[in-house]
Amino acid sequence: NQQLQIKNEKLGIAGQLAASIAHEIRNPLTAIKGFLKLAYQGAMKLEDIYPILDIEINRIETIANELMFLGKPAKSEIKEINIGKILLDVYTLMQSQANLDNVAINLDTYDNNLYALCNVDQLKQVFINLVKNAIEAMENGGIINIEAKLDGKWIVVTIKDNGKGIPKEIKNKLGEPFYTTKEKGTGLGLVICYNIIAEHKGKIDFVSEDGVGTTFTIRLPLAN
Ligand code: ADP
Ligand code: MG
Repeated sequence: NQQLQIKNEKLGIAGQLAASIAHEIRNPLTAIKGFLKLAYQGAMKLEDIYPILDIEINRIETIANELMFLGKPAKSEIKEINIGKILLDVYTLMQSQANLDNVAINLDTYDNNLYALCNVDQLKQVFINLVKNAIEAMENGGIINIEAKLDGKWIVVTIKDNGKGIPKEIKNKLGEPFYTTKEKGTGLGLVICYNIIAEHKGKIDFVSEDGVGTTFTIRLPLAN
């Protein structure tokens, strides 16, 4: 997918990401400062500004939490890991959220010996982000199919949902830092996925049909 490749190259420019992070954090900070000052001057009551501060502080916290996974892993953190095991962990981890949203997750790993050189925490985060997006795309519930299989020297993981799909007009915006269509979204989930997969010398791609669903495909080099 040409578009994703271009996006990945763009993201290599750390400065661009830093600038948009700075921007996203400055907005809530400005609000916090402004309202605190009003409270200090007696123009507003602390109990009235508290809910606003709470929202803005949570926003900064969410952004910081998501960005935690972006750093380049140290060599010592890279290990040969069974991808099926990582997917099983993610599957287990996501059960409660899926249940709450009437979503069933099917996990199929045809081959239990799919080993890749990776940082477990980062890779888990990639799959968590993609499963979360899949759940959030199915407002009335649905099914997520997760598969992992071997294709030559690649481990191929697919995460398929039957959610609302991604409209054509926004396809090339996905993966831009802070691009989100959700009221409470951060627009960081895919940025993080693209960066981590690139760091693992893998590929990430998606096909989507409006109103039908979306399938994300992740390819990781098989460890020798
Ligand atoms: P966020 O989830 O915070 O919005 P992401 O980077 O994870 O940020 O996703 C960016 C946007 O991509 C989402 O707001 C949504 O519009 C779209 N998207 C991602 N995954 C899916 C999916 N499986 N189905 C439909 N839309 C999706
Ligand atoms: Mg997301």
